[in-house]
Amino acid sequence: MTDRPSRHLATRCVHAGEGDDPHGSPHPPLYTATTFGFPDTDAVLDAVEGRSDASLYTRYGMSPTIRALEAKLAGLEDAEAALAFASGMAAETALFLAHGRDGVICVGDAYGGTLELLADYLPALGVLTHFLLGDELDRLDGLLAEGAGLVFVETPTNPALEVFDIAALAERAHAHGTLLAVDSTFATPVNQQPLALGADLVVHSATKYLGGHSDLTAGALMGPAALLEPIWGWRKALGSAPDPRTCDLLARSLRTLVVRVRQQNTGAQTVAEAMAGHPRVRRVLYPGLAEFPGHGLAARQMAGFGGMLTLELATDRAGAASVAERLALFALAPSLGGVESLVTQPVTTTHHGLGPEEWARRGIAESMLRLSIGLEEPADLVADLERALEA
Ligand code: PLP
Repeated sequence: MTDRPSRHLATRCVHAGEGDDPHGSPHPPLYTATTFGFPDTDAVLDAVEGRSDASLYTRYGMSPTIRALEAKLAGLEDAEAALAFASGMAAETALFLAHGRDGVICVGDAYGGTLELLADYLPALGVLTHFLLGDELDRLDGLLAEGAGLVFVETPTNPALEVFDIAALAERAHAHGTLLAVDSTFATPVNQQPLALGADLVVHSATKYLGGHSDLTAGALMGPAALLEPIWGWRKALGSAPDPRTCDLLARSLRTLVVRVRQQNTGAQTVAEAMAGHPRVRRVLYPGLAEFPGHGLAARQMAGFGGMLTLELATDRAGAASVAERLALFALAPSLGGVESLVTQPVTTTHHGLGPEEWARRGIAESMLRLSIGLEEPADLVADLERALEA
């Protein structure tokens, strides 16, 4: 069955990339093969030179299972095309190497691994990278005028949930002929559609909400086929296509993405509201709270506020750590987006490498706990947090 863009996201999640199976299976079979046979050498050449879409070699992404997943991934963002990767970092690496060689401007805070790639590894290859925090955006046009291949923004950010205006950034980047790529991992395609807002490319750590069960590692890039073409070349050269078994598992997860994320939005809103008035909580960072600075923009730009929130506790680093350790329903684990709730202390995990000076500059308090809300009953999560805070 082919998908049409006019269909709603929930329908695309179920039907995009499913195909007509001759045996009547509702889902495409899993092809674990690393290579595929041809009737003659002309047919091989047609595949190699792009005149046919025959399967050829799995590392090239020329596998029926990888392509079926990519059709579904494209459907998530209503994109012309998508590329699947072995991880979110693999997707970002190929993105920066393909489109960031003339410089990358990273707007706002980002996942620690992304910051490390941009600050340490790309400059070692001669790529100029710049970092502008939310209160430094007046410098963006000047940097763009000097020339850059790519503006990169994560929104909402990790861990402060800062919200950036995708349409405004796209306009400013495009005025200088620069591309805008958005890491929409925290938002998911259910809550945010960056391409519709003017971004050129969207990247996801599919390890998080797209996979949704903390049992697979993958990445995804969506956008126009012409922009994905050079990224495909880097994926092939780096060998960072995903394993077909992981693709099959990810496609299964994507069929339930919309129901999972909508429930996680509801759970996070319930937890955020309950924590907002708690005497042991200094601040709740969640775009769904009316008093949150990014709330107005999030309400305009997002269809839901997401399943991630951060609590700044009225205690110190050790006090916050002991609250995290006392939680029974939240596993102390550095990831997000799964059906089970997780808690992390950013200064000990995602942002550990930055150190105290950068934490202060980025508004990351040592007493912060980042929560990823799962699919448990929200009232049970609130009770667990209250018990851990009271102890
Ligand atoms: N982007 C964001 C927002 C993330 O949180 C992460 C991982 O935590 C990544 C990218 C990297 O993804 P992966 O771990 O799949 O390589």
